[in-house]
Amino acid sequence: MSSDNYPSGEPCAQRGGHGHPGLIHRFIDRLPFDADDPIVTLQEGSTPLVHAKWISERVGAEVYVKIEGANPTGSFKDRGMCCAVTQAVKEGSEAVICASTGNTAASAAAYAARAGLRGAVIVPDGKIATGKLAQALMHGARVIALRGNFDEALELVRELTDKHPIALVNSVNPYRLEGQKTAAFELVEELGTLDALCIPVGNAGNITAYWKGFQEAGSSPRLFGFQAAGAAPLVSGVRVEHPETIASAIRIGNPARWEEAMTAMTQSRGDIRAVTDEEILDAYRLLAAKEGVFCEPASAASVAGLLKYGADGCERVACVLTGHGLKDPQTALEQSGSVLPCEPNLGAVEKAVLG
Ligand SMILES: *Cc1c(COP(=O)(O)O)cnc(C)c1O
Repeated sequence: MSSDNYPSGEPCAQRGGHGHPGLIHRFIDRLPFDADDPIVTLQEGSTPLVHAKWISERVGAEVYVKIEGANPTGSFKDRGMCCAVTQAVKEGSEAVICASTGNTAASAAAYAARAGLRGAVIVPDGKIATGKLAQALMHGARVIALRGNFDEALELVRELTDKHPIALVNSVNPYRLEGQKTAAFELVEELGTLDALCIPVGNAGNITAYWKGFQEAGSSPRLFGFQAAGAAPLVSGVRVEHPETIASAIRIGNPARWEEAMTAMTQSRGDIRAVTDEEILDAYRLLAAKEGVFCEPASAASVAGLLKYGADGCERVACVLTGHGLKDPQTALEQSGSVLPCEPNLGAVEKAVLG
């Protein structure tokens, strides 16, 4: 892609370099920014949409997976974070903060580093995947391990940012949703019509953003949201005091975007449903072994839901795979086969390889 595709009059550094433009440049006419804003980008978005042959056959529909793990920090959070941090810079903030189950922390830390802002992230102690923690620390954020869960962390950062001039970059921040809605634009551009979208739901920001994006693009697929059975307040209709699931990214008992998510599902004639950890892990292993796609456990909830409840008469379905499998190497190693020890001679290697 030539640099002619970028809005003119902008310093090169803000474009993020060569290759495809970041999503603010790509969709600037549909986002609340101008080309001369101080755009912070890692060239997020434009993620692969891959046909899932095996899953398609299993459910009798044309199924695609949107690989959001291909974003710069390995999750869809980058779509929202480039907008939230750009806005923070525009407003003159010197620091950003978030509560996080992990990926928001990794993304906020990266974009804060890029923008030269201070970053602080509050995570539930011992409850976030190793890769995400490594990212937040490497990017130089102050990482605070709260002796509490995500819902308590979010409550506290909301109070903190009411008192101090620090930008809150959780998905309660409207710029997060603006950025995340662009994934729906990409789906409509690539597929034309889409009958259903399957998506994991935690704090419910992403499903809200997708619905906004689809509506702005003049499209209305049915939205099927999936929560982990141990953290499924939108399914039961009551908040969960002690959410539990292997899918740590969606271990949330009181979603901030509760109302908006329910509206999205009702308006789109979709539904919110629960999948067990066992079903999530089955889908997680299947995606890796049969489709060659390694996502994190929370992401597999979308496919677990599609496999469990079927395509409901929908012909063309997209599943959002929200984060990369390498985020959580520990769960991967627990869920996969073991390595074969081998002596360094041909006979032993033959036996190991062919036996
Ligand atoms: C944040 C996250 C989710 C949940 O998105 P919400 O907007 O909180 O509903 C799902 N999967 C992964 C990997 C995430 O990081």
